[in-house]
Amino acid sequence: MTQQLLVDMDGVLADVYSRILSLEFSETGIQQTMESLNGKTEAEAFVNYLKHVRSKDFFRKAPTMPGSIEGLQYLNEKYKVLVVSSATEYPQSMIEKYEWLKEFYPFISWKQMVFCGVKDSIKGDIMIDDHPKNLDFFSGKKIIFTQPHNFYISKSDYQRVDNWKQLLEIL
Ligand SMILES: [Mg+2]
Repeated sequence: MTQQLLVDMDGVLADVYSRILSLEFSETGIQQTMESLNGKTEAEAFVNYLKHVRSKDFFRKAPTMPGSIEGLQYLNEKYKVLVVSSATEYPQSMIEKYEWLKEFYPFISWKQMVFCGVKDSIKGDIMIDDHPKNLDFFSGKKIIFTQPHNFYISKSDYQRVDNWKQLLEIL
């Protein structure tokens, strides 16, 4: 039977860190590097984190993660893909995320989009996510996608990938 694959948006499909880094640079003139943020939560890394994620077009104009468009298209042929995103905390993000997916990943249908609050009840065989708070409640195979906030986290039931190339090598 085809396995159900749960794919996170922020930090896996959407390069949210690049988006915030460029917004903070244009506002403050300070250019932080990705490496300097390793081990910090998003809120610790960015002074205006909440302001950014609540602002209009924040999600709509996020860049796609390198390799994720071709990568997800390939996985979509091989697995039953669901794109699962915690979105209700920032309600304006829901329509932006929907439009963003339609633009960049047009092969993902509306039936494959799950915009939720927490992900604890979402079922599947494999989960790809950057946040332990999502992976830890999941009963299937857990793949953690490297982002600065999870850089130093290591758990025996996580398989870590640093990019889409590595992800495709194991799926
Ligand atoms: Mg995420």
